[in-house]
Amino acid sequence: MSETKRSEMMKIHGSCHCGQIIFEAQANPARAVLCHCTDCQMMSGSPYRSIVQVKEADFSLLAGEPKPYFKVGDSGNRRELSFCANCGSHLYATSVTEDVPNGQRTFGIRTGLLRELAQLPPQAQVWCQSKVAWADDISHLPGVDQQS
Ligand SMILES: [Zn+2]
Ligand SMILES: [Zn+2]
Repeated sequence: MSETKRSEMMKIHGSCHCGQIIFEAQANPARAVLCHCTDCQMMSGSPYRSIVQVKEADFSLLAGEPKPYFKVGDSGNRRELSFCANCGSHLYATSVTEDVPNGQRTFGIRTGLLRELAQLPPQAQVWCQSKVAWADDISHLPGVDQQS
């Protein structure tokens, strides 16, 4: 991954659903992806998840204390998946500090938490091996502005 010019970065503002956790970060919009991995499916309760990758050094926690959940991958690597212990909103996934020193990790921030959600269209899809077939095109489905 090539180095990003600071001018390409976007300030992002996030919070969990209950508002106990508030954060800001500098994000590169080119690092916004859809993830179709089975962890994202299960933990979000949805077919895929929308993520933007942010360097830990560019992430500022302004309020609250994320609760980490640790999972062990097939590779044996541990991942830290942080959420709000009060409302259950998923915040980000990152490496554990045993693997990557504190401050140098990458946070995969869930873009649904962000005020800038609409300005971070995904640039790629990952873990397509577990993608559900119908996820490719939902634009033909009838839609209403609120609940039908
Ligand atoms: Zn919360
Ligand atoms: Zn995923």
